[in-house]
Amino acid sequence: MQPIHQLRRRQWLQSTAMGVVVLTSGCASLSGVAKPRVVVVGGGWGGLGVVRGLLAAGAADVTLIEPNESFMSCPLSAHYIVGLQPASDFQRSYVRVDQLGARRIRERVLEIDRAKQMVVTGTQRLPYDFLVLSPGVDYMEDGIQGYAEARSQLPVGFRAFEQMAVRKQVDEFLVNGGNFVISAPKPPYRCPPAPYERAFLIAEQMKQRGTKGKILLIDANPNPMPMPIAQPILKGMKSLYANQIEYLPDTSIDAVDMGKRQLVTSSGAVPFAHANLVLPMRAPALIRQAGLGERWANVKLPSFQSQVDDRVYVIGDSQGSPLPKSGHVAFGSGRQVAEAIAERIAGKSPVNPTGAVDLPLGICWANVTHKEAININVSATVVPGEAPKLKFSVDPEHNARSATAAMSWGNGMWKAMLG
Ligand SMILES: Cc1cc2nc3c(=O)[nH]c(=O)nc-3n(C[C@H](O)[C@H](O)[C@H](O)COP(=O)(O)OP(=O)(O)OC[C@H]3O[C@@H](n4cnc5c(N)ncnc54)[C@H](O)[C@@H]3O)c2cc1C
Repeated sequence: MQPIHQLRRRQWLQSTAMGVVVLTSGCASLSGVAKPRVVVVGGGWGGLGVVRGLLAAGAADVTLIEPNESFMSCPLSAHYIVGLQPASDFQRSYVRVDQLGARRIRERVLEIDRAKQMVVTGTQRLPYDFLVLSPGVDYMEDGIQGYAEARSQLPVGFRAFEQMAVRKQVDEFLVNGGNFVISAPKPPYRCPPAPYERAFLIAEQMKQRGTKGKILLIDANPNPMPMPIAQPILKGMKSLYANQIEYLPDTSIDAVDMGKRQLVTSSGAVPFAHANLVLPMRAPALIRQAGLGERWANVKLPSFQSQVDDRVYVIGDSQGSPLPKSGHVAFGSGRQVAEAIAERIAGKSPVNPTGAVDLPLGICWANVTHKEAININVSATVVPGEAPKLKFSVDPEHNARSATAAMSWGNGMWKAMLG
């Protein structure tokens, strides 16, 4: 492929020779040569990693397409859901990336035309030289009969701003009691420890507020996921919440009947007053529409380039490598991809590693109480062409030090993204 800096320079020279300067995205460097256009889809953990990296490198004309007016973190937001912290603790403004020079378009991408290197929104067609996709996850509603009709009453709350609807359910439950169902699907899904953490923090509030009822934790897996966290999670559940949480492992949810407020599960009918069903997940339809993969985007490691298109990178939870679906991995892969794009723009040939290469680190936190958490670190390496190797390091049990570290990790990450 022709180096991008040569291509753009020649295009610019041709257009000036004809007396017309066609700089579709309008950003020219001091030398008068247009910078290559990088379009980033999704202003979450992955998208902000790549945007910040590209803005720091200064090599590209950066456009961020994100429908939300501000950012809200899923990590740590369980403290909001159970009423212990305001939502604003987990929200940040996008103003910083505007100030640093990104063009931000508050729209949803509807289509990607890879043949024309164009991204289509409701009102615009945006050309790109490089495209980075980090649109997160969609829920697979089809797996539970009756879910689609009940969607508005059964919020999942695993995407930004959906936490408000879950908070409403939790508030009502803590006052009225009854059965509160929380479910965990089979991996891969976003942040596997999160359903257990949510159950724990709600159970803690039940104890403190004297709520009469129970949490039914319906797990499609034989034990809490991923495997290395099963023991500390089960330890926390048994030692603190034996009277609040009933754990139903190896149980699938097949249907929901909102009229009867009843779930049909593989272990029989389960009546509920409130439910937070965490559905199986996949990449948003955009990824399939663009021919980048079926359930998840197929990427090459360690580069996160699409397996079918070298100008397209897919990072964060939408990509289908075995890396954990974690914000830390998403942000880290965004920074790495920004570096790679800046090097391609500078005309440097990619280094083709032959041995094992480090992949972005995963850091996850599962609060067991408001003040105690389990820390999960995942380091990964890959030999190109082989499956990555993951190594877990997990707190043997919940502790106060990890809860403090979790909050400072969150604040540090949000600062790196938008501070
Ligand atoms: C309860 C919970 C706890 C978690 N705890 C942790 C933790 O402790 N540590 C950790 O590392 N991770 C944690 N995670 C996981 C983390 O939130 C995700 O891994 C991370 O958000 C993935 O980043 P992303 O960029 O792929 O997606 P997101 O951060 O979801 O960003 C996707 C963005 O794309 C936008 N978008 C979607 N479709 C389009 C479109 N068509 N056009 C334009 N924009 C679009 C969305 O509006 C969104 O802003 C947790 C998740 C949950 C739910």
